[in-house]
Amino acid sequence: VNKVVNLSAFIAFHARQRPDHTAVIYGERRVSYREFDERIRRLAALLAQRGIGEGDVVALFMKNSPAFLDIAFATSYLGAVFLPVNFRLACKEVRYILADAGAKLLFVDEQFDAVRNLYDDTVVVDAAAQKDSRTLSDSTWPIPEPRPRRSDQLFRLMYTSGTTARPKGVMHSYENFYWKCMDHVIAVGLTGEDRLLTVGPLYHVGAFDLPGVALLWQGGTLCLHREFDAEAALLSIERHRLTCGWTAPVMLNQILAVENPERFDLSSFRWCIGGGEKTPESRIRDFTRVFSAGRYIDGYGLTETCSGDTLMESGMEIEKIGSTGRALAHVQIRICDEQGRELPANTEGEICLRGPKVTRGYWNASDKTKESFFGDWFRSGDIGHLDEDGFLYVTDRRKDMILTGAENVASSEVENVIYQLPEVAEAAVIGLPDENWGERVVAVVVPREGAELSYEMLEAHCRKHLANFKVPKQLLLSDALPRNPSGKILKRKLRETYAGGA
Ligand code: ATP
Repeated sequence: VNKVVNLSAFIAFHARQRPDHTAVIYGERRVSYREFDERIRRLAALLAQRGIGEGDVVALFMKNSPAFLDIAFATSYLGAVFLPVNFRLACKEVRYILADAGAKLLFVDEQFDAVRNLYDDTVVVDAAAQKDSRTLSDSTWPIPEPRPRRSDQLFRLMYTSGTTARPKGVMHSYENFYWKCMDHVIAVGLTGEDRLLTVGPLYHVGAFDLPGVALLWQGGTLCLHREFDAEAALLSIERHRLTCGWTAPVMLNQILAVENPERFDLSSFRWCIGGGEKTPESRIRDFTRVFSAGRYIDGYGLTETCSGDTLMESGMEIEKIGSTGRALAHVQIRICDEQGRELPANTEGEICLRGPKVTRGYWNASDKTKESFFGDWFRSGDIGHLDEDGFLYVTDRRKDMILTGAENVASSEVENVIYQLPEVAEAAVIGLPDENWGERVVAVVVPREGAELSYEMLEAHCRKHLANFKVPKQLLLSDALPRNPSGKILKRKLRETYAGGA
C-alpha cells in the first residue's frame, strides 16, 4: 500500500555505494557515509529503548552539529516525527510548541540551561564531547529494523518563524520532501560531488531542506557550521573547495561587507541560493564582486511548501532583477484576488501555490488550515505578480503593505531605492499610524559605520526615484534592526516600537 522507506534509506544507500565519501564536515571532523549510517542506527536503538516508536514526536532544541542530523534521521528511521525548535525562542514559547506538538522526548544542547529543565523527558547533548568523537550513538542496545512509511505520513513538524503571527506547526510528509529534493536536483543540478556551505540554523526550512538534505539525498558533502560567521564562511569555501551554499539576505550582507575578500580563493563556488526575505537588488549586483565564479540565485519559498518554490534562472539575474525567478518543475503558482479567482499577468494579488510539496495543513489547527487554502491552492499571505514570462515578483507580505492616503505602498520598492545610498547598511520601511494619511511611510535605517545620513539626503534621493506618496515622511536612525532567528526583519516589532511617535 504505497509504502516508501524513511529518510534513513538514502543514507544507507550511499553508505553502501560510497562508504568513505564525506557526508558532513564539521570543524576538524569529517563524518563519512558509513559512519553517518552507523550513527543513525545506534541512535535509533537509543530512541527505541526510550520508548520512541511510530508517530511519536521527538523535539530538538539544538544548534547545528552532526548530532542534529543524527537525531533527525534516527527519528525518521523509527517512523517517528522530528520537531526542530528555534533555539532562540524564550522558554514560554518553547513550552507552547512542545505542548502543542505533544513532544515525547526533547534533545537539548548542553549550553541551553533554561530549556534543559523544561521537559520531563530530556536528553542533554554534549557538544564538546561530539568533537572528540564520543557520540550520542555509543549505545550497545540491539539495533531495530527501519520502519517503512507511506508517502503521505509525516516525517517532521516545523513551526513557522513567527514573523507575522504566533508560530504554526506545519506538517511535512515524505511526499512533500521527496518532491522537493527532486525539484532541486532538476533546477540546480545538485550532484554527489557537490560540497555545500550550510551556515543557516538547521531548525529552519531554508538551511535544512534548501538544499541541505537534498544534497545528502544525492550523496554530496555538507559543510556544517555551528553558527554563522562571514569570514569563517569564506574560509570554509576556500579550504574545502565548496561548490555551493545557501544564505539568508542578512548573511549575504555580512559576507559582502568582509574586508579584502580577494584574500580568499573562492573560485570553486558556483552558486549561492538566497531567500527567506527580499534580497536588496544592489546586493545581487554586488555578489559577483566577491564571487567572480559564482552566481546568486534568489529563491522564494515558505515553510508550508518545504521551501524552494521558485529559483532565478542562470543568465536572467540582471534582465529580471527584482524577480525571484520562475516556479520549479513540480510547483504551480497563480496570483489570486481576495475571492481566490486567478488574476492575469502583471496584476498584483496574493501568491498561491499548488503541488506535491505543499503541506496538507497546520498541526492541531484545522481552522487555520481551512483559511489558508483556496481549494487546493495554498495562500502564501504574500502579495506579488507574475510577468508575461512567468517570473514571480514578490512585492510584500500582505501584512506589511502600507496604506497611505488610499494608496498602497510596497515597502520593498522603497527599500530598494534606499539601499542605493552608500551611507545605508540596512533599511526597513514600515507604515506608522498617521492622523492625516491613515498610515505614513517611515524609513528605519542603520547607517554604515562612520557614515552620516540626514532626512534631507534620504528625501532628495527618494524623490528622484519614487512617486511622491511613496517617499518616506520620516527617517529613524537605529543601531540594529530587530530580526527573528532566521535573520528576517521583524516589521511588526518595528511598528510596535515606533507607533507611539519616536
Ligand atoms: P510566519 O508565517 O510565522 O509569519 P514566516 O512567514 O517568516 O513566519 P517562513 O516560512 O520562514 O515563515 O517564511 C516564508 C516567507 O518569507 C514568505 O511567505 C515570504 O514572505 C518571505 N520570503 C521567502 N523568500 C522570499 C524571497 N525570495 N523574496 C521575498 N520574500 C521572501
